Amino acid sequence: MSMGVDDFANWMRDAAGVLHENAAYLTELDAAIGDADHGSNMDRGFAAVVAVLDESSFESVDELMKKAGMTLVSKVGGASGPLYGTFFLRFGAALAGAEITPATVGEALKAGVGGILARGKAELGDKTMYDAWAPALEAYDSAVAGGADVGGALTAAAEAAAKGRDATTPLVARKGRASYLGERSAGHQDPGATSTTLLLESAARTLA
Ligand code: ADP
Ligand code: MG
Ligand code: MG
Repeated sequence: MSMGVDDFANWMRDAAGVLHENAAYLTELDAAIGDADHGSNMDRGFAAVVAVLDESSFESVDELMKKAGMTLVSKVGGASGPLYGTFFLRFGAALAGAEITPATVGEALKAGVGGILARGKAELGDKTMYDAWAPALEAYDSAVAGGADVGGALTAAAEAAAKGRDATTPLVARKGRASYLGERSAGHQDPGATSTTLLLESAARTLA
């Protein structure tokens, strides 16, 4: 059975639920090294994506994901809206006209993360969401090379993201608001790496 619009819509709905449940937690993480709005930003953004899904129907996965990206860019201020918005815009664009396979989803993930880097200029170890995305991409590709399907590769990606998220705790932030704290940002888990892990766990559950 091939994956399609309904599966990706389920991902967005599941992600919205999980981000809503974790909004207080994400905001608490952001209170320690930022401005205490990451949970409300993500919750508001994904609630808007769900509202769009409820109102519209989509012919293709790329259309759906591009619309999700545009919605996040327009509804979420701060760093995370444009970063996640660009991720989904490029993720969708990469899937235009493509069949959904482990390889094409991998290419789309890479394109999306390329968008995060183009916008945010983060490097590995800067204590950002990229510290979760980078190991996730690697794990995804090795799982596919080992014969995994999309769900299996996303499960591997989510596990790697969780390790990357945990590894942000001792780091000193070099990008975003947390970098204003300098050394005082060490000892706190990055909020964006945490939401990235939640998004990938949600993808692994829904795109299996
Ligand atoms: P803001 O910092 O504008 O309030 P959020 O609190 O919603 O936005 O998001 C903060 C998260 O965004 C951080 O935890 C970090 O993971 C991510 N982030 C911030 N700046 C960058 C960047 N330049 N590149 C990648 N991720 C970033
Ligand atoms: Mg914030
Ligand atoms: Mg903010």
